Amino acid sequence: MASFFVLILGLIVGSFLNVVILRLNTGESAMTGRSRCFSCGAQLQWFDLVPLLSFLWLRGKCRTCGSRISCQYPLVELSTGLVFYAIYFKWMVFAANFSGVMGAMFFLWGFAFWSIFLVSAVYDLRHKILPDQNTYLLIIIALLGIIIFDRERLWPSVAIGGALFLFFAGLWFISRGRWMGFGDAKLFFGAGLFLGWPQALLALFFSFWIGAIISIAVALWRKKLNLKSEIPFAPFIFLGSFIAFLWGDAIYFWHLNLLI
Ligand SMILES: [Zn+2]
Repeated sequence: MASFFVLILGLIVGSFLNVVILRLNTGESAMTGRSRCFSCGAQLQWFDLVPLLSFLWLRGKCRTCGSRISCQYPLVELSTGLVFYAIYFKWMVFAANFSGVMGAMFFLWGFAFWSIFLVSAVYDLRHKILPDQNTYLLIIIALLGIIIFDRERLWPSVAIGGALFLFFAGLWFISRGRWMGFGDAKLFFGAGLFLGWPQALLALFFSFWIGAIISIAVALWRKKLNLKSEIPFAPFIFLGSFIAFLWGDAIYFWHLNLLI
């Protein structure tokens, strides 16, 4: 029952994240102003804004003018729902260490971190640039949570996050920004902080592998290999980090067993 509630919460938050992604750097607040259709400007009613269901019910078209609604909306809603759902199952065991309010705060920390991360990933996909203020918020949230819930790992996490940052800042510098942006390095700092050792290192490997496979697939599909990357890297950092978050410890120990 609680897991179902978490899934619904994720869908609703995802619907809000869509607005944040759209209005970030436009000077418009995500908190005020009703959502409108981009084609005809018709104000959307509450029943047009039910996560996932409205999109399915309207078959992806505006009720007033019939123009297509971007599939970003249902995808971000569904992703946020699934991310929240996965965090809930991953952290159920750890949350038992905290009393009622602290346990809830612990989950809120995870929900907030991955929501902000998802905003960066989707924004990068849309605009091919990372919003700095969002990355700084991600880093602050990661630090705050570690200080509150897991203080012993503060400096080790800063160290591994810093190492990832330096590694990617180095790649950025050597390639003069062709392989990846400086924003990606900062984003990796946030991811490394939150994940800690050894998940942070696995996040790096997963991000690279997913990025390489998808870039080659896209290049084959477009039938041309473009070395100057037009593919934003943040979505891969998000995917790689989330996989490392969910299964990183299991993969790490499984690998150790193979070595011994
Ligand atoms: Zn319309």
